[in-house]
Amino acid sequence: MVLRLLEEKRPLDEIIFCDTGMEFPQMYEHIDRLERYIGRPITRLKAPDPFEYHFYEYTPQRKNPALIGKRGRSWPGPMNRWCTGVLKTRVIDRYLKGRYGQDELVRYIGFAADEPKRLKDKQYPLVEWGMTEADCLRYCRERGFDWGGLYDIFKRVSCWCCPLQSLEELRKLRRHFPNLWEKLQYMDAHTWRQYRKDYSVRQLEQRFQLEEERIRNGLPITGRPFYTALHRRLDPQNNVTKGSDSR
Ligand code: SF4
Repeated sequence: MVLRLLEEKRPLDEIIFCDTGMEFPQMYEHIDRLERYIGRPITRLKAPDPFEYHFYEYTPQRKNPALIGKRGRSWPGPMNRWCTGVLKTRVIDRYLKGRYGQDELVRYIGFAADEPKRLKDKQYPLVEWGMTEADCLRYCRERGFDWGGLYDIFKRVSCWCCPLQSLEELRKLRRHFPNLWEKLQYMDAHTWRQYRKDYSVRQLEQRFQLEEERIRNGLPITGRPFYTALHRRLDPQNNVTKGSDSR
């Protein structure tokens, strides 16, 4: 979006990247590279306390009595995306207010035409141009960007630790980024909320190991025989829905 806005010579006062601290290393390199390419500074914003602090330490007032005594915000989930609010929206809003006060601002957001999220008070140039995610990737690739191969591996790229990723993205995370996968296992072993509704990270590891074994032995990794074997393999606290994946 930034590239095309600049190519169209639209006036841009400031280009902002808000960092959750949990982006892939290649994404930080991409931002540096983009900055050099456009010859304009990119303002990097970050919340005062890192993701890990909120994850392990920060304990909000609990409304749910079952959560009293649980330390840290733990994993976000579909109904509790604390990280988006605390590490992104709040940080950007505070920065803009401090820098531009009551000035009327036009905020361009880089949602693609095929992404569902929209807010009324923002502008979405990619939507105006009808550019889907695939169009955007092509546009950037034509200008030499490759995100260090991230988009050759993943369909979508966000925080590497995000529990809202699909099972397939997590499978790829484990295969291509074993160090991050190890860190994910550590984080999950030291917090209280289960990573996903259907699997802890430990259970995902067990599932992926089973898949690899079955592939080596020419056995299917879908269908009843697979899920029967999986239920035998998983730690007892699992609540995998038989024959399906909830996310
Ligand atoms: S990508 Fe996931 S972990 Fe990162 S801010 Fe969004 S919801 Fe949170």
